[in-house]
Amino acid sequence: MLTRLESAIRTIPDFPKPGVQFKDITPILANPELFLEAIELLKTPYSSADVTHVVGMESRGFWFGAALAERLAAGFIPARKLGKLPGPTIQEEYELEYGTDGLEIHSDVLGPGNRVIIHDDVIATGGTAAAASRLVKRTGAEVVGFSFFVDLTFLKGKDKLPEGVPFRAVIEV
Ligand code: AMP
Repeated sequence: MLTRLESAIRTIPDFPKPGVQFKDITPILANPELFLEAIELLKTPYSSADVTHVVGMESRGFWFGAALAERLAAGFIPARKLGKLPGPTIQEEYELEYGTDGLEIHSDVLGPGNRVIIHDDVIATGGTAAAASRLVKRTGAEVVGFSFFVDLTFLKGKDKLPEGVPFRAVIEV
């Protein structure tokens, strides 16, 4: 099944800009059997972790993230680019290749006692996931794990994340 999932990921060269080998997971979403299996594999490492919330990053982290939260009987929290959430927010900036970008969550959704998984479809340089982790910590909640479908290991994104927190990726490239 892992082989089927791997072969369903479509690599699009030079998207969204030259030099990027874009990992497109939408063929998995479109196939009910593969979608279900993907969520099961994302869930397994955290099924006994008493997760209260999954934070998913805009926008491709919403797809598996919300389904994973439902399967873990946890809540789902979208971490969005600046200016997209309607309520009061807390924000973190992170470095891009050129310049910086920002991520925010609603400020009233997490707090002490919450146990949070941070999810995205792909981890590349790790800057986005690290910013999401800082946001969660500022609320007083605990990050109990990082969850990705694909880890682009050659970019060493994992090294940007806090040590000692479980890190799981279904597929390593
Ligand atoms: P990062 O560099 O880890 O902060 O990744 C930035 C965002 O872009 C994350 O949401 C990743 O999922 C996405 N991303 C980066 N590189 C790729 C890629 N090659 N294919 C698909 N998504 C990517």
